[in-house]
Amino acid sequence: MSTTAQNTNNNTNENSLGFFGKHGGQFVSPEIKERLDEVAKCFLTYKDDKDFLSELNALYKHFSGRPTPIFYCENLSKKLGGADIYLKREDLNHLGAHKLNNVLGQMLLAKRMGKTKIIAETGAGQHGVATAATAALFGYECTVYMGEEDMRRQELNVLRMRMMGAKVVAAKSGQKTLKEAVDEALTAYANDKDTFYVLGSAVGPYPYPELVRHFQSIIGKEAREQFLEQTNTLPNMVVACVGGGSNAIGIFSGFINDKDVALIGAEPGGRGNNLGDHAASIVHGQEAILHGFKSYCIIDEKGEAGPVYSISAGLDYPSVGPEHAHLKDIGRADYKAITDKEAVDAFFMLSRTQGIIPALESAHALAYAIKVAPTMKGKSILVCLSGRGDKDVDQISQMIKDNLIQLPK
Ligand SMILES: *Cc1c(COP(=O)(O)O)cnc(C)c1O
Repeated sequence: MSTTAQNTNNNTNENSLGFFGKHGGQFVSPEIKERLDEVAKCFLTYKDDKDFLSELNALYKHFSGRPTPIFYCENLSKKLGGADIYLKREDLNHLGAHKLNNVLGQMLLAKRMGKTKIIAETGAGQHGVATAATAALFGYECTVYMGEEDMRRQELNVLRMRMMGAKVVAAKSGQKTLKEAVDEALTAYANDKDTFYVLGSAVGPYPYPELVRHFQSIIGKEAREQFLEQTNTLPNMVVACVGGGSNAIGIFSGFINDKDVALIGAEPGGRGNNLGDHAASIVHGQEAILHGFKSYCIIDEKGEAGPVYSISAGLDYPSVGPEHAHLKDIGRADYKAITDKEAVDAFFMLSRTQGIIPALESAHALAYAIKVAPTMKGKSILVCLSGRGDKDVDQISQMIKDNLIQLPK
């Protein structure tokens, strides 16, 4: 398995499955291909199976608390004086983010495959926490790989995982963040046939981008029905933040055939446009292969995965889900970089106007909505509020102490 970006021209393995236009695929070693084929076969067997779905839906309802509501931000919309802003409240899922939608689905696949050893990577720790919790529920052994730098930034999530019985292993190479965590998880996966790899976003080689989209599509399916029911119409625009792209593809999937609904992905624009200052893979990246799939990727002068930065630990991945790369190519979705500052302003604005503290990741999507709402009078914007901001309170309060930002008056 390639763990550094390669120039795509060097790779001839394009006959593999799972392409979205020219992106995606399965650029892996024969050993890993065998394992992925097994996962793909199980996924195709069970994805529409009645018993599988009733088990999954029961977990969504009773463990996660679905369906999550749609909330109209009356105060925020009035303050901006333009479009009506609505939130899809994925922050209200058990554990505080959309991650569980996907983890529950994958854990049920692991169960069907008879695998009781679970591994996962995590960035901010949200996917690790969802995986640890679900493994505890199922009684499975769980190991989560996490960059050492992320472990420091998201200490609370490390503790939560350990409390639920997961082993957290520090990835100590390179930038010590999400890319390195994926490298380590893939190495562990390649070395142990008994493991099931619960991948946390709509990235990776086939079948993961499709599989993760499938399990996250519950967001879009619910959101479309709820929005229609509440407003008798569809939103003019749907906005979601994009790290790997799972919450975004989940909500987009519900509206992709509604050609009049604009789909916008908010990428982490960080502190500027130079390499190392952002993690906006579509806005600033180039086509390359990383972690077994082809997509837009942030690469350095040597053609390797470049350094990435974002205020939010859940968005700093140097590539992006291949379906998003394709949606960009065909013009069905548009992707915008949102700066740290815009995200922090949005974080406070939602907290102050609506009494909802958003995750810094989700604040990127919200920031885009806040930016364009004043020019969209009479229209509506649906924002995917992918997670709650409790996990970010420490970080924000430290930034206030360090005089990097100020609590608004
Ligand atoms: C992990 C995470 C993200 C980014 O992941 P995607 O796969 O891009 O959705 C966004 N928001 C929250 C709250 C997260 O935990």
